Amino acid sequence: MKHSIDHLLEGFKRFQHQHFGDDGGIFDTLRDGQHPSTLVIGCCDSRVHPPMLMDSAPGDVFTVRNVANLVPPNEPDNPHASVAAALEFAVLSLEVQHVIVLGHSSCGGIRALMQRSTLPDSALGRWLRIAEPARRFVCTHHAGVSQEKQLALAERAAVLVSLENLLSYPWVAERVQQCTLTLHGWYFDMHSGSLWGYDTDARQFLPLVCPLERAREAHRRTMIAA
Ligand SMILES: [Zn+2]
Repeated sequence: MKHSIDHLLEGFKRFQHQHFGDDGGIFDTLRDGQHPSTLVIGCCDSRVHPPMLMDSAPGDVFTVRNVANLVPPNEPDNPHASVAAALEFAVLSLEVQHVIVLGHSSCGGIRALMQRSTLPDSALGRWLRIAEPARRFVCTHHAGVSQEKQLALAERAAVLVSLENLLSYPWVAERVQQCTLTLHGWYFDMHSGSLWGYDTDARQFLPLVCPLERAREAHRRTMIAA
């Protein structure tokens, strides 16, 4: 059965009342330009909407979304120019001060990558090959763990691949070196409702925002049941 999109129009009306009502709103200051401080590179996944996750207002975050939140490496004839173009605009024109690569649990893109035999010979298949180093890392160093564990490890490893690829753009590397731009690797765990960040000193993901106690208990019960 085909679903209606009426609820999306109703949603826009609520947005309209909130931001374009009698009292004016945030777009009074935004309509002439944007000055976001942060670029977020997130997944297309409908459950992982970066501005919603961060409860941020319009104008706060410049967002790029693609399958599995990947950044392609800088290459002379980059076949994936869309992400590079957005990155170039955010860094060179908007002069963002932070770039966050936001990975997440239960990522369908990374799952397809890990089950490589199911990767189509298509745009999607070629795109996911950007994260091939993550798959290789997990298969080499974590061959003995369960598929679900491998998937979670690959989701995190793919964030690190993207962070490394970010540095292949000379104007990114230069600004990172000058400390005018900071790169962040984040991971949203939708099972526990927590947010993790890659700590370069500890060389691992550490909690940025711990799960709420209720979610922690429910997650623990799920793990025991599994
Ligand atoms: Zn995803």
